[in-house]
Amino acid sequence: MGLDDDSREYHRRDPPGKIEIATTKPTNTQRDLSLAYSPGVAAPCLDIDEDDDAAYEYTAKGNLVGVVSNGTAVLGLGDIGAQASKPVMEGKGVLFKRFADIDVFDVELDITDVDEFVAATKAMEPTFGGINLEDIKAPECFEIEHQLREQMDIPVFHDDQHGTAIISGAALLNAADIVKKDLDDLEIVFSGAGASALATARFYVSLGAKKENITMCDSSGIITQSRVEAGDVNTYKAEFAQPVDDGSLEDAMAGADVFVGLSVGGIVSQEMVRSMADNPIIFAMANPDPEITYEDAKDARDDTVIMATGRSDYPNQVNNVLGFPFIFRGALDVRATEINEAMKRAAAEALAELARQDVPDAVVKAYGDHPLQFGPDYLIPKPLDPRVLFEVAPAVAQAAMTSGAARERLDMNEYRERLEA
Ligand code: NAP
Ligand code: MG
Repeated sequence: MGLDDDSREYHRRDPPGKIEIATTKPTNTQRDLSLAYSPGVAAPCLDIDEDDDAAYEYTAKGNLVGVVSNGTAVLGLGDIGAQASKPVMEGKGVLFKRFADIDVFDVELDITDVDEFVAATKAMEPTFGGINLEDIKAPECFEIEHQLREQMDIPVFHDDQHGTAIISGAALLNAADIVKKDLDDLEIVFSGAGASALATARFYVSLGAKKENITMCDSSGIITQSRVEAGDVNTYKAEFAQPVDDGSLEDAMAGADVFVGLSVGGIVSQEMVRSMADNPIIFAMANPDPEITYEDAKDARDDTVIMATGRSDYPNQVNNVLGFPFIFRGALDVRATEINEAMKRAAAEALAELARQDVPDAVVKAYGDHPLQFGPDYLIPKPLDPRVLFEVAPAVAQAAMTSGAARERLDMNEYRERLEA
């Protein structure tokens, strides 16, 4: 059987789906039940009525993330709607649980209107310690996240935007180091100007790249001032418009140090790779087929080509699971009010730093015994490396405390020990 049929069988096997709710306290006696529910439950209710933060002590809120979607941009499947997106959102819950022991309620909202979506999500604030927005199409996703971040006092994080930004940002920090180029000198070309590309470009600026060195292309070519003036691009893309002549992706790539593909497969040729500056960095992240294959990019030139893709069968897989479980772990553990820029940078820097460390044998074995050593083919850690939790969650928690986003202070040594236990 192929993957599709295996997956149908996996999901269909009784009980249908892949998650369930479990109780965490005794429920054997009448007494247990009157503690769990009426009349005993009134006492914690009244405490929370006095102080909202007591909800973190008495309920599952502090370890519960809402994965909220309307199904308008699901994986590579597009706008399949809320109901059809449910296996994906339940799957996201599986990953949160597996990698960071975070519980998830998946919430599929049959709402495409931005204001209605915002109102519905905002109204769920009492339930959750954080909100992971998922698979909402651009440009609506920008406005939805912006409004919810302003209105809510818990972290709101659109993973399709920031996850990619953070993980590829970690890869960029290390790639630039390997080719001995400074971030603020890098000429960076983006193919794609959607949810992930715009967030990634903003994040690279936050890491030290220069906005004026970023050239962004959408399906019509370079995003230029003249296209903005012609009313040809939305306000989000206009943020990266350059005062240059209109042109193609091919024009943009000549001389560039970095190519970032968050668009569609197969649109970059070996010729275009050859036109780039020395030791080019190529993150071809369209899924499932990258903008150019690993082999074609590597074979295009004699100097070092640093290559990352979204695929698990090649080195340097930019996989969001390296980020969201651990970022939320750190944010939840300090009862953060948001996931801010400092926390995102801390996550990227922790990932980059971890990739420079020796890799434990067990991790090497889990990945087919290929040597994993810091360099062009190992820029970022592997998702199944248990150290990612121990490094990224504390880095995010620490950044939350330093930047004023933490409601709770942690002793970092104790916290690390708790995570490793
Ligand atoms: P999106 O919001 O739909 O954006 C797609 C962008 O690609 C749009 O700006 C679109 O241009 C552009 N595009 C389409 N055809 C193009 C072409 N022939 N040449 C140049 N640009 C073209 O999608 P997204 O969520 O950002 O995802 C984009 C891609 O990145 C997908 O393949 C996705 O799977 C991949 N991705 C990978 C990772 C990962 O590896 N970790 C993470 C996130 C996304 P217009 O604006 O003109 O329509
Ligand atoms: Mg997604």
